[in-house]
Amino acid sequence: MRFASFKKMVFLFIFISILILGLCSLGQTGSKPKITKEKQLVLDWLSQPQVVEKFGKISDTIWSYAELGLQEFKSSKLLADTLEESGFKVERGLAGMPTCFVASYGSGKPVIGILGEYDALPMISQKGRVPAQEPLLEGAPGHGCGHNTMCTAAAAAAIAVKQAMDKFGFKGKIKVFGSPAEETLISRPYMIRAGLFNDIDAAIDNHSSSDFGTGYGKGGNALFSVIFTFKGKTSHGASAWEARSALDAVDIMNVATNFLREHLFYAYRMHYVIVEGGEAPNVVPDRASVWYYVRNSDEKIGEMYERVVNCAKAGALATGTELAGIRILSAVHQRLGNKAAAELFQKNIELVGMPEWTEEEQTFAKALQKALDKKEEGMPTKVRPLREPGEVFVGGGSSDVGDVTLIAPTATIRFPGQVPGAIGHHWSSVACNYGSTAWKGLNAGAKAMAASAIDLLTKPEELKKLRDEFEPHAKENPYKPFLPADARPPLDLNEELMKKWRPFLEKISLENF
Ligand SMILES: [Zn+2]
Repeated sequence: MRFASFKKMVFLFIFISILILGLCSLGQTGSKPKITKEKQLVLDWLSQPQVVEKFGKISDTIWSYAELGLQEFKSSKLLADTLEESGFKVERGLAGMPTCFVASYGSGKPVIGILGEYDALPMISQKGRVPAQEPLLEGAPGHGCGHNTMCTAAAAAAIAVKQAMDKFGFKGKIKVFGSPAEETLISRPYMIRAGLFNDIDAAIDNHSSSDFGTGYGKGGNALFSVIFTFKGKTSHGASAWEARSALDAVDIMNVATNFLREHLFYAYRMHYVIVEGGEAPNVVPDRASVWYYVRNSDEKIGEMYERVVNCAKAGALATGTELAGIRILSAVHQRLGNKAAAELFQKNIELVGMPEWTEEEQTFAKALQKALDKKEEGMPTKVRPLREPGEVFVGGGSSDVGDVTLIAPTATIRFPGQVPGAIGHHWSSVACNYGSTAWKGLNAGAKAMAASAIDLLTKPEELKKLRDEFEPHAKENPYKPFLPADARPPLDLNEELMKKWRPFLEKISLENF
């Protein structure tokens, strides 16, 4: 080869290399999500160790309060005070519920809502980060669904958004909806009835999980939460011919509903507890009550509920007692997650990424998985791809967020912290909703929520996508609550239970914190 042509080839090689490198870097800039200065600020603010610690401690404190629905006096106060101290305007005791609050910051449009919950579940007390069943206080409530982390993450996200509003001066409002009693699906239909969501353009919901992800479409079941009360006649248990047992009526109603199961569409769910059934076998109970959760699709729940009421009537008729009360505590719709919202949230979830877990956290996760006889896979390392609606409707759980999805475009960010395989509403979840993984998980959730709120507040074209999807559907299907107009929030529901447990829980809480 001649020297001149060799030189030409070297030049050509260098030129092509530069071209390829240039194209590659162009491609990379194209695929890398562009982070606006507003978004960078909320992510940086939430990354500060003192911020992670502050909200981690709030979450642990609410975990230790373990307050049941509509009794979350200390939990809601802690969150409302935190928001107020950060400059939010806080309205408390809303929609007939002393533990409901709304915290707002900013002015004008758009208005973006972040939902938050803080109630615990009965009977599942457990020591934090202990991978075997060891109650903190035998029989007491515990946070087995991660609600201690949820309004905490919502508050952290909203306060981060406020920092960006203060620095860059963009318009709009951010609101935190402190929503009591989600475990009993109570607050949202009442909050909607009180008009609290009237001005919001979109809502960001969140839930604690082992995953980091979101989804859209119709999901979960509608639910009616109802207490049936029977009245009979009492007598000595050994001369019961004088009596008409209200407990017998409950038993016959339950037998009838259990036979009914076979004739319900398979996606239904139905469960009950007897809340009053007498106090001694030798006094025939003249009063008994059974509390039902009746779940089915929006289309089928009305008919199913009527059939359950007929079972109650049958119990009364067969026993010569009276069906003295049918008290609907709550009634909620299925969820309809907004696709455009979920797509936007997913981008921010991917931007934030799964937290890095320490060796100790992986060891704890594997020990808990072993105790539950689950695959010992440890904590997850990747965020979940966007979840599409299932091809077949299989029913399942319910949430009062369902009603919110029908009045504003909404999707749920599920943030990590719980151990994969931990069982919901169970001591194993209480164990992992406390301490380091919960702190990291709620912080990641707060980042994804704050980043999404920034997108919705600063990019009108993003909010328009949500509204364009939501509005035609809402116009065709105007929101009709399942909750009867005369229903009132059942403020007495957990009063006795919390009266019993609160002094002991407070003592433990003082010892530990
Ligand atoms: Zn739950």
